Amino acid sequence: MKAAIIYPPVAEKGKFALLGQNRQYRYSSSAEVRIYPIIPATAATLLDLHHFDVLYLDAINERISMNEFLDRMYKFEPEIAMIETKTPVIEKHWTLINKIKEEKEIKIVLVGDHVSARPKESFEHSLVDYVLTGGDYDVSFLNLCLHLSDGEKLGPGIWYREEGKVKNTGHHKLINDLDTLPFIDRELTTWNIYGEAYLYQPCTYIMSGRGCGGNTSLVGNCSFCSWQHSLWNCTARLRSPSNVADEIEILVHRYKLKEIFDDNDSGAIWNKKWLRDFHTEMKERGLIGEVLLSSNARADCLDDETCSLLKKTGFRLFKVGLESGNEKTMSRISKKESVAEIKTGVKKAKDNGLIVMLTVMVGYPWETEEDVRRTYAAAQELMLYKTRFGDCLQSSVIVPYPGTPMYEEALERDWFVIDPADYEKFDMSHPVLKSRIESFEWCDRIWSIHKEPKFMLKSLLSIRTFRDLKLAYTGFKSISGHKRDF
Ligand code: SF4
Repeated sequence: MKAAIIYPPVAEKGKFALLGQNRQYRYSSSAEVRIYPIIPATAATLLDLHHFDVLYLDAINERISMNEFLDRMYKFEPEIAMIETKTPVIEKHWTLINKIKEEKEIKIVLVGDHVSARPKESFEHSLVDYVLTGGDYDVSFLNLCLHLSDGEKLGPGIWYREEGKVKNTGHHKLINDLDTLPFIDRELTTWNIYGEAYLYQPCTYIMSGRGCGGNTSLVGNCSFCSWQHSLWNCTARLRSPSNVADEIEILVHRYKLKEIFDDNDSGAIWNKKWLRDFHTEMKERGLIGEVLLSSNARADCLDDETCSLLKKTGFRLFKVGLESGNEKTMSRISKKESVAEIKTGVKKAKDNGLIVMLTVMVGYPWETEEDVRRTYAAAQELMLYKTRFGDCLQSSVIVPYPGTPMYEEALERDWFVIDPADYEKFDMSHPVLKSRIESFEWCDRIWSIHKEPKFMLKSLLSIRTFRDLKLAYTGFKSISGHKRDF
């Protein structure tokens, strides 16, 4: 059986869709952002290992046209194709599904956070054959293909048509042991097209687990976080430290990588025992110093002991959410950490020689001009604290997707300034929620902290190597691209 895992091309006015592996969708002018979609890549690997003929085709990040995409897919002649979708792009996907179904006999499967929250509507609006709900859709896609090829029993969370009706196999379940998944076949999944401007090249991505864990066994459930609510059932699972170190060892030896980014939702930073064991595993394999590691993290996990261990293990950069500079917002979005804790954690990381990328959000309906000024000031304070080359930030406007508590709250409180069923409007090109501030202007101002003379000077003075200089050049190009987006 031939199976395809595809991202059809999606672009808008010369900007490319940030879809795969992106929690918040938007179009970007930055040519440098191409994030590795880990779950679809694992799906491709699983199918290949089960002797399916696999086409992995990410037309968005290969930057190919619709004609070339369809040509390559049709030449492969898949019997089934899986597409990851998201709220702002789902209408485009419905149209394309109908076109493909008219032209070819291919079973089409949709996966992702939007269809996990609203599985039925895709059957009403398109000729889709299956919807796989939940985040472990690599495992359920394999299950579906084995069902179609060998009659294996369908697992939970799968929606399908039968005799003109839409049926399902119940609520999805997540797998218990992530170590049972294979390491991604990097060649099959075109690893070298992916990367980001802030990572040393060549780089690649892994996920040390799935779901957001927090300090003192908290589990993240921010009210806007679609992955945590729609994909991971508000849980957090980690692979074993030895399993992650095994994968890193293979990657380093096979691809001579300079950096590996762990795109697990909050990394594995929340589990100290895990980190200690991981340090031992890396040391025993002689991997410390062979490759730089970077990761997402919640700041409340970044205490002195953890930061020092992270530095000793070869970690370089942490992507940390500063969703607001206001305590009332942190509590309203259920961030489960305070602004004060975020500031302390980020400063501890910097005290220990780690680089921080802040991800900042603006545009909450209840925030005032004074509130957003506090967010700006908090971002500025952290960017200017012990600035080292590589410190940076990303800023975005809040967009709550269906399936999240914030979307429900926005409906209840009449916060939407658009029709909440007009999904294309959720592409971050305009605010979707009522706001007392000029969200896009503030977003742009926050990006502009990169251009403040004090920040630029401190960054430039800490450049040490030619490699840093190259990274500075691509980083500058990428920031200019991002600034054009707002
Ligand atoms: S901390 Fe980040 S990953 Fe975790 S629930 Fe909140 S937004 Fe999601």
